[in-house]
Amino acid sequence: MRKKTKKLKKGKEKKEKFIPQLLKGMKDVLPEESKYWRYVLEKMVKVAKSYGFEEIIVPVLEDVNLFKRTIGESTDIVEKEMFTFFDKGKREVALRPELTAGIARAYIEHGLDSLPQPIKLFSFGPVFRYEKPQAGRQREFYQFNLEVLGSASPITDSQLIALAHTLFKELKLSVEIQINSLGCKDCRKEYYKKLFEALRYKKKLLCENCQQRLNRSPLRIFDCKEKKCKEFTYNLPFLIDSICQSCKDHFIKVLENLDELQIPYNLNPRIVRGLDYYTRTVFEFWPSKGNLSEDEKSKFALGGGGRYDELIKYLGGKITPACGMAFGMERMIEEMKNQGVLLPKERKNIVFLTAISEPAKKKALSLFEELKEAKIEVKEALAKDSLRAQLDLANKIGARIVLILGQDEVAHKTIIIKDMKTGIQEVVDVNKIIAEIKKRL
Ligand code: AMP
Repeated sequence: MRKKTKKLKKGKEKKEKFIPQLLKGMKDVLPEESKYWRYVLEKMVKVAKSYGFEEIIVPVLEDVNLFKRTIGESTDIVEKEMFTFFDKGKREVALRPELTAGIARAYIEHGLDSLPQPIKLFSFGPVFRYEKPQAGRQREFYQFNLEVLGSASPITDSQLIALAHTLFKELKLSVEIQINSLGCKDCRKEYYKKLFEALRYKKKLLCENCQQRLNRSPLRIFDCKEKKCKEFTYNLPFLIDSICQSCKDHFIKVLENLDELQIPYNLNPRIVRGLDYYTRTVFEFWPSKGNLSEDEKSKFALGGGGRYDELIKYLGGKITPACGMAFGMERMIEEMKNQGVLLPKERKNIVFLTAISEPAKKKALSLFEELKEAKIEVKEALAKDSLRAQLDLANKIGARIVLILGQDEVAHKTIIIKDMKTGIQEVVDVNKIIAEIKKRL
């Protein structure tokens, strides 16, 4: 919000007219768009519940150290992108840049580890990252997040990916699953030796930021958005080629499960995710766009996640292997529009009365009055002769039920009732039509 002040000659300040404005990187969701949000969110919740997930709601504001410790001090998110400030009690707090850390904190704080494991939780809400706004990148965006805490089994990783696959199918979105393994702490020790060897005389080819990060968190060079770093990393050894036997076995089982489920995936050794807490399996969901480069697709990733076996222990909890993922709401909706996915027509509780032939129309006139009296929202276009024209209008206004009265129906004291949501059509006794309608609405 901008507040302009103007210095007057005598030192007095005059307040100029205040013009409220949306902050950079924020977005209003207007009714035309919020229809998509509601639709996608309902699908997300339905799919999550069908896989046994329950909802958890955690605060938007947390102690800044929660994110520093979990996401990692040398990640872009913590180094550059967090909205942080001191509250009135002089505590440094942050608007959450993701949901996993808060959920992990809640898991420990409320002793959820004493319940039968694993615990499956979903959550939805805004997250904040101070990034340069551009297409598909905002400062406030919404994530739908899923976590499975207390399971080391590769079944968990595969089932999370299966859940995402089901969700994308439900939303009619075509995506590519990119998958990789980051191994465990021990694998990384081995890998870093190879990486530093490969970088021995070439560090200077990386951007300054990457050069600085190299000692603290070498994997981060793979997330760098600078073109020269991206190009350079194509020729470096990959972590996947250095993982230990146990991590390899885990990864192979995840892939075998996906094969069993006939879920296609792409092995991508460059997927490292932008956070430090991941171990073993990591994955991302990219929109399927034939001619775009890997970088372009990854820029518009619809979601991603992975295993984080060390995080809970690191926050002071018991050893708790876990796996999770998050989807970006705005990007999912944008991609639905790009891929031409239409929302199903919203059916209102309107009953549309149609009639063919003069005797049927006459009967329909009195039936229309009866329905109104029974407080049913009824519409008609009886002045139109063709049934097609009447049905077109019923469809256009999104009627839930269409009643069709023809000569035969009048003769037999029946009427056709069609549920436009299910498409099911039945012939019923015209004297029972009010009860029949109420049963269906
Ligand atoms: P991440 O854990 O960073 O991969 O985020 C998970 C998902 O959130 C991404 O795949 C995107 O769909 C979405 N996302 C991440 N950052 C942004 C952003 N700045 N603006 C909009 N959506 C984002």
